[in-house]
Amino acid sequence: MRIGFGYDSHRFDQDRPCILGGVRFPGVPGLRGFSDGDAVAHAVIDAILGAAALGDVGRHFPPGDERWRGADSMDLLRRAMALVESEGFEVGNVDVTVICEIPRIGPAADAIRESLSGALNVESSAVSVKGKSNEQMGWEGRREGVAVHAVALLRPTV
Ligand code: MG
Repeated sequence: MRIGFGYDSHRFDQDRPCILGGVRFPGVPGLRGFSDGDAVAHAVIDAILGAAALGDVGRHFPPGDERWRGADSMDLLRRAMALVESEGFEVGNVDVTVICEIPRIGPAADAIRESLSGALNVESSAVSVKGKSNEQMGWEGRREGVAVHAVALLRPTV
């Protein structure tokens, strides 16, 4: 089995929709980025690519490449998963922690699990999503942006 870790952070941007793990949060500032700014999708991409030692999101979907401008990051996650599968791996489980004051992750956690599990080709019971406030400390606590940590376990398909 192989373990991978992923981290991502994005700054809030009032002019964009907020999308985390493919789930929209109406009424919450969005996240700046070359793609749709979905920091959950990006952290999970880095976790699965990391477990397979296949580089990171920036290597496969470089910001500045017009193909990925405004990209749906869940589409990028599906592409990364296809790459991981082509290397002979499947996902065992994924665990995600989102650190932010807004939006509140808890009420949307099951929707994000469902969304991620579809892209990762696993049951939603293999995907965990947790939200943490940063207790008003630091940049997450000042509502400047969102940080995401993710770990993924891969196992060989044969
Ligand atoms: Mg990112």
